[in-house]
Amino acid sequence: MIQIYDMCKAYQINQISIQALKNINLHIKQNEFVAIVGPSGSGKSTLMNMMGCLDVPTSGTYILDNEEVSNLNDDELADIRNKKIGFIFQSFNLIQKLTALENVELPLIYLGIGGKERLGKARTALENVGLGDRLDHKPNELSGGQQQRVAVARALINDPPIIFADEPTGNLDTKSGVEIMNLLKELHKKGNTIILITHDNDIARQADRVIRIHDGEIVEDRQVV
Ligand code: ADP
Ligand code: ADP
Repeated sequence: MIQIYDMCKAYQINQISIQALKNINLHIKQNEFVAIVGPSGSGKSTLMNMMGCLDVPTSGTYILDNEEVSNLNDDELADIRNKKIGFIFQSFNLIQKLTALENVELPLIYLGIGGKERLGKARTALENVGLGDRLDHKPNELSGGQQQRVAVARALINDPPIIFADEPTGNLDTKSGVEIMNLLKELHKKGNTIILITHDNDIARQADRVIRIHDGEIVEDRQVV
């Protein structure tokens, strides 16, 4: 599903180059549940941005689902994201002015799916995360855990094979965090490839494989027993 060869990413700030990723080689198969762990500044988000087609590497090759994506332009990357990838973020990233239902409908609007079908799908997605009775609530009328479940419903609405979750439990209380992790585990059982970014070893251990990154390099890659 994911093949990365000699990937480097450098950021330029005032003529100084920061090597955020140094020669990453990584393969992730379909239906793996992988956690990427490491301290703040180690390169987790940069790696997720590359794997999630939010940005392109400085050098190296990235093959996603048998397609080379390292050299695509912004529109082509957006197209791949819309079709193949669902994102869940620490801060939920919901649009405050829109209801839960409207937030979940958004990706379908970008895909040009018509009103009635869109509404039906969005409603079902919210029902599937236990929010069938919160369709018309705005984010500020929902708890953190409920907001993250709306974000999960939005991430799943186009049935993407790959889910990236960046510190998905970081802003949640313990109980809501467990619920979100359980949702990810269910998705994994249903066949999704899950890539979880976290600084929390207890969360990481719930994946099947833990990849540890430090100073832009993979320092450990192990199966959880
Ligand atoms: P993590 O997610 O593990 O906290 P990041 O991938 O955000 O790590 O950061 C890795 C390194 O790259 C850090 O040194 C960070 O300061 C730098 N970095 C990340 N994003 C940018 C950016 N947009 N511009 C410049 N430097 C960046
Ligand atoms: P990144 O993905 O670039 O690491 P985050 O927004 O996830 O950025 O985290 C920013 C900082 O906050 C990091 O130092 C991270 O380790 C820390 N952090 C994130 N979530 C938590 C949390 N639940 N508890 C404590 N620290 C956290």
